[in-house]
Amino acid sequence: MIRVGQGFDVHRFAEPEAGRPLMLMGLRVPHDRGLAGHSDADVMVHALMDALLGAAGLGDIGQHFPDTDPAYRGADSVGLLAAVMADLRAGGWRVVNADVALIGERPKLAPHREAMRDRIAPVLGLAPQDLNVKATTTERLGFTGRGEGLAAQAVVLIERG
Ligand SMILES: [Zn+2]
Repeated sequence: MIRVGQGFDVHRFAEPEAGRPLMLMGLRVPHDRGLAGHSDADVMVHALMDALLGAAGLGDIGQHFPDTDPAYRGADSVGLLAAVMADLRAGGWRVVNADVALIGERPKLAPHREAMRDRIAPVLGLAPQDLNVKATTTERLGFTGRGEGLAAQAVVLIERG
């Protein structure tokens, strides 16, 4: 049995004075500002978690990790992703592949792409080549084009025997 799921997430940039690190796919990416959010605001990992939960029919990250819960303040999103994977494995699911896209003008993802795959693929139980990481811009249009925030989309395929 196979199932597909998609995820989408958006976070606004915090003011540079806030000193928030920019976390993307579990890595601290050098940038002049980080994303605002209750957790570490790792927008790519959040889209990936929503795709996984969607594929398994387990709802969304808002249900699993409510942003009103102080337990998730500043939470490491890779830890939350590992918790999602534990739920999937408990249901007998394994990930076949995943494709994650960052949407924004800056920062550029290319220098970090390989490290991001190496960081997140093991959490998903995947070889790095089965986790695709990519980026696109919106041609300077809209909130991502104006640099107000970043968006991410993810698609995953899962299977069980
Ligand atoms: Zn998020």
